Amino acid sequence: MDLSIVISLYNEKESLRELTDWIVRTLKDKGLEYEIILVDDGSHDGSWDVIKSLPSEFSGPVIRGIRFRRNYGKSAALYNGFKAAQGEVVITMDADLQDSPEEIPELYRMIKEEGWDIVSGWKQNRQDNKLTKNLPSKLYNWTARKITGIKLHDMNCGLKAYRREVVKSIEVYGEMHRYIPYLAKNEGFTRVTEMPVHHQKRKYGKSKFGLERFVNGFLDLLSLWFLSTFGKKPMHFFGFTGLVTFLLGFIFAVWIIVEKLVAQANGLHFRPVTEQPGFFLALAALVIGVLLFLAGFIGEMVSRNAAERNHYNIKEEF
Ligand code: UDP
Ligand code: MG
Repeated sequence: MDLSIVISLYNEKESLRELTDWIVRTLKDKGLEYEIILVDDGSHDGSWDVIKSLPSEFSGPVIRGIRFRRNYGKSAALYNGFKAAQGEVVITMDADLQDSPEEIPELYRMIKEEGWDIVSGWKQNRQDNKLTKNLPSKLYNWTARKITGIKLHDMNCGLKAYRREVVKSIEVYGEMHRYIPYLAKNEGFTRVTEMPVHHQKRKYGKSKFGLERFVNGFLDLLSLWFLSTFGKKPMHFFGFTGLVTFLLGFIFAVWIIVEKLVAQANGLHFRPVTEQPGFFLALAALVIGVLLFLAGFIGEMVSRNAAERNHYNIKEEF
């Protein structure tokens, strides 16, 4: 199998036939053996009935369907699509006709011939609401570039192409579909590039994600950054910050006490230790330092018991 096209969808029944038809027309004379995997993320608008009727209506690709019993989210849908995919190249796209199937041949060629691990779409003339999507998205992508070190303008574009090993090596979970290039980077796939793609207005239905995506997206980014930096050695993070905080508190406390004793011994005016605001700051720092240390120990116990504590992605061996 040359190519798998994975499409996650939630209540998109009006688009599905049109999308499939467009893909089939685009790839008609390309000589590719390919499959279309439609993952129905718990739709309740009759999308599944449309999906079931597609294999008999189109010849050319193998058309497969996966249906969730309930709505789990786009990451879960992609995860299952990736598991099922058999093609050497795997392309994901949204079901809402905002991504154009005409980009597929070029994406396929870039993976196959130019040897990229991931080619990510970069939406040109984005056809979404300027204020609620385009602007926050710029800020979000800038932050993501800084934290992940991956130079993409449009990290969360639904249209992307992958070498098969990439999708088989990563585990998309939670809402991490926004950061697949980062997940891949953490597994050692670094040949990532982008390709400008067309973007259409949503033709049917409505967007499934609101403004909360940016808050959640940012929190997920922090989690991923933490996991990739300290996930296997939590003590290095908590132990270090704990030690610094504790030491600061300790030095400060000692200083306050010594200052008082010296003043007292010389018969000068002095304030009782417990009447100084600095003392309470020092006390708080001591306690927080110990807590951070404890968090480090607990983190170590968690990561020691993690099933993947000795999981490494081996590229070659003989
Ligand atoms: N989607 C999904 N599960 C969900 C929400 C969305 O599979 O819980 C699909 C949706 O049907 C579409 C794609 O993810 O194919 C992108 O969603 P949407 O078009 O709403 O996002 P936007 O274009 O507004 O960013
Ligand atoms: Mg969309």
